[in-house]
Amino acid sequence: MNKILAINSGSSSFKYKLFSIPDETVIAEGLGDRIGISGSTFDIKLSDGTKHQEKVALPDQETAVKLLLNWLIKYHCISDLKEIVGVGHRIVNGGEIFPDSALIDKNNLHKIFDLTDYAPLHNPAEGRGIKAFMKLLPGVPQVGVFDTSFHQSLDPVHYLYSVPYEYYDKYKARKYGAHGTSVRYVASRTAELLNRPLKELKLIVCHLGSGASITAVKDGKSFDTSMGFSPLAGITMGTRSGDVDPSLLQFVMKKENITDFDQMIDILNHKSGLLGISGISSDMRDIEDRDDKRSQLAIKIFINRVVRYVGSYLAEMQGADAIVFTAGIGENSADVRAKVMSSLSFIGLKPDLKANQSRGEKIISTPDSKVKALIVPTDEELMIERDVVRLAHLN
Ligand code: ADP
Repeated sequence: MNKILAINSGSSSFKYKLFSIPDETVIAEGLGDRIGISGSTFDIKLSDGTKHQEKVALPDQETAVKLLLNWLIKYHCISDLKEIVGVGHRIVNGGEIFPDSALIDKNNLHKIFDLTDYAPLHNPAEGRGIKAFMKLLPGVPQVGVFDTSFHQSLDPVHYLYSVPYEYYDKYKARKYGAHGTSVRYVASRTAELLNRPLKELKLIVCHLGSGASITAVKDGKSFDTSMGFSPLAGITMGTRSGDVDPSLLQFVMKKENITDFDQMIDILNHKSGLLGISGISSDMRDIEDRDDKRSQLAIKIFINRVVRYVGSYLAEMQGADAIVFTAGIGENSADVRAKVMSSLSFIGLKPDLKANQSRGEKIISTPDSKVKALIVPTDEELMIERDVVRLAHLN
């Protein structure tokens, strides 16, 4: 049977999922961790739940890809490499060049590397991952699935910053957004669950994971989104600050004798958000049960920023048909969902608090609720697999 690999190459990790097509069954998944650093590991989880992990040297992406292909044969996920008929790769930034997922040839691979300034940690690692697959599986279609593509439908009113226009003209300095693949999946699944055409719906998708964003979806397209030029903007996240007044950075840098702007950005990316405010952890689970003031404040700020963005998108879209929760916190924290929903009673959202306590895909508002609320677990890898099928004409 034919198989498709969905790949997410991070700067030092490499996540994969193997699907069989056309039935979209997951045959294996796993992670190559600490690529290029000491203490690397590689693991695989098979469809029967069996797991294997080994400490192995993973000096680069190519070694990780070689190992993956060996393991897929060793653990009988495939009997021949020829069974792999396509590989899809998550790419963080496709700039204005990729308004949709695309087949990646040498020319498009160059373009992914050329976009390095827009995602310095991610695009090069993802590009190296594609290069390794091109070498080890020659002739097999490689497809890039860009986190930014779904948001290319934004109007300039939403994607431009109020700074001199020449920065956009010269450098394409603008909002790109992220989580597009997740939002695209969640929005189409929501339409199915509501039994209504996506094109007729106004949705607000709350992707609340360790990275978190809010996206307004109108007529089946991204209308506005909270992340910006980079995934640092928008709502409070696990370790990222979300929106900050840039003058505050100048002030703090002077006070703390920070002379390197990269260091300040690093603080905003890795030491802020839930971690920065609570001083305890970036993980919602760690702070949800604590009653110290700063942990409680971190959660309150998190919820406030979600409500703030949802509120602004309600105003911009003149209402919404549904508010949808997804990703780690959105799918698992009944408390966060309940608090966000209770702030939205003014729009006619009536939570079904019993349904909200359970997990998995479901409607969590009452039948008479004017605005619906749903939990829709995201599945970015499935979206990647489907894009490979679509673009490589495998159906
Ligand atoms: P990402 O893909 O952005 O790394 P996830 O979507 O996996 O993140 O979300 C991870 C986050 O989800 C964790 O940091 C944690 O805060 C949150 N999370 C996971 N499970 C729960 C839970 N049961 N209750 C509350 N928060 C949870």
